[in-house]
Amino acid sequence: MLLARIFTLYPEFFPGPLGKGLYGKALAEKIWKLETINIRDYAIDKHKTVDDTTYGGGSGMLIKPDVLANSLDKNLNSKEKIIYLSPKGKLLNQKLAKELSKEKTINLICGHFEGVDQRVIDSRNIEEVSIGDFVLSGGESAAFVMLDAIIRLLPGVLGNETSVDEESFENGLLEYPQYTKPQIWEEKTVPDVLLSGDHAKIKDWRLSQSEAITRDRRPDLWQKYKKN
Ligand code: SAH
Repeated sequence: MLLARIFTLYPEFFPGPLGKGLYGKALAEKIWKLETINIRDYAIDKHKTVDDTTYGGGSGMLIKPDVLANSLDKNLNSKEKIIYLSPKGKLLNQKLAKELSKEKTINLICGHFEGVDQRVIDSRNIEEVSIGDFVLSGGESAAFVMLDAIIRLLPGVLGNETSVDEESFENGLLEYPQYTKPQIWEEKTVPDVLLSGDHAKIKDWRLSQSEAITRDRRPDLWQKYKKN
């Protein structure tokens, strides 16, 4: 079972989309578990202050290190992984999602305002992960993205286990085009090879399509693929 523990100022956002469909079912089946920690509950003053102005100037606010550290220290056991969702972090990709899907517990910190005080990141051995080169208003939507990518890799969550292995990024390529019924739709037919029943030929066709799409759309992935 994977325990996802979310540190947030908005616990009411969760489980949100992660509580529905197959993921909701997987929650009920205890394939994964969600705990939300309201950072505000760990504020130290009577006004429940969680943020303050930045040293050195600037108009933004930061989450205070004492409050955030207090929320971590009161909830974490031993050496669990702690991730701060941050645009400065290493980029989330399928490989990282796969690695994280093997953890027992992941603690995710959702920032707000300008982010969090650097000292808490340093002192609690926190890893930073970004979901892409853009800036969001808060880490919650990034946490949804990250957990969505992780949970679907947990055994038993998706019905068809083989479908995961054939997806985009699994072999360093983007996925080939796929088709379903009807066989003719708006006068467009499905590629003949897919109706041939010849599995080897279908496999070759899919690989060549994957290669062409990757070369065309993602030169970065294509270069890496060619090297391997
Ligand atoms: N001042 C920061 C941005 C803060 S955005 C900077 O320039 O780097 C507010 C919060 O949104 C962050 O604390 C983080 O938790 C979240 N966030 C924003 N963009 C993100 C991204 N690309 N990936 C993950 N989390 C992000």
